[in-house]
Amino acid sequence: MTNEELIDLANELKSDETTNPIGVFEEFAKENNISQEELEQLLSKKYDCFKCESCHTFYCYDEYSFFDEKCIYCCDTDSEEEEY
Ligand SMILES: [Zn+2]
Repeated sequence: MTNEELIDLANELKSDETTNPIGVFEEFAKENNISQEELEQLLSKKYDCFKCESCHTFYCYDEYSFFDEKCIYCCDTDSEEEEY
């Protein structure tokens, strides 16, 4: 698992053209014998790639809320639902 591979992975996960990013992520973890938690941490710390726990899609820092562990799009949806 090289630096370049991880950069490529991060770009692929964040790309709109990737139809099943979570599948790519899981496959990469399996092939490289690393746990998904470890891989997720690595990507978020070094490669500007954050996994949304709600829609299971990957985003860069600008589109992700650390506090909620969700992308900003899921946060928007949630806050609308919680309004009363
Ligand atoms: Zn999301």
